[in-house]
Amino acid sequence: MPTTSITSQLDGLAHEIAEEDLLAGSTTGRYRAVCGAWVAPTSMTAAPGRPCGACTAVLSPAPDLAASEQHSRSVWRAVSVWLRTCSTTVHGSARRGAPSWT
Ligand SMILES: [Zn+2]
Repeated sequence: MPTTSITSQLDGLAHEIAEEDLLAGSTTGRYRAVCGAWVAPTSMTAAPGRPCGACTAVLSPAPDLAASEQHSRSVWRAVSVWLRTCSTTVHGSARRGAPSWT
């Protein structure tokens, strides 16, 4: 996502503004940063502020995202095994042909 960094008057941080929010903000003079903050830009001559940590985090997702996705999938598998076990316990062996959710 192409972004432009704009320093806010309010917190002095340089927030990252997505291209579409840059266009939207150009009419109002207030820009919505990718971290969710509203940015009122400082004058162009002011020194740029420190980069906003929240914006940086939004733009660079944690590298272990794929791993945690895999983790939640294995949790889901464990839950469906558990549900099937419960269902077997309730209905007994006569319902062995019941549809499984896997
Ligand atoms: Zn920010």
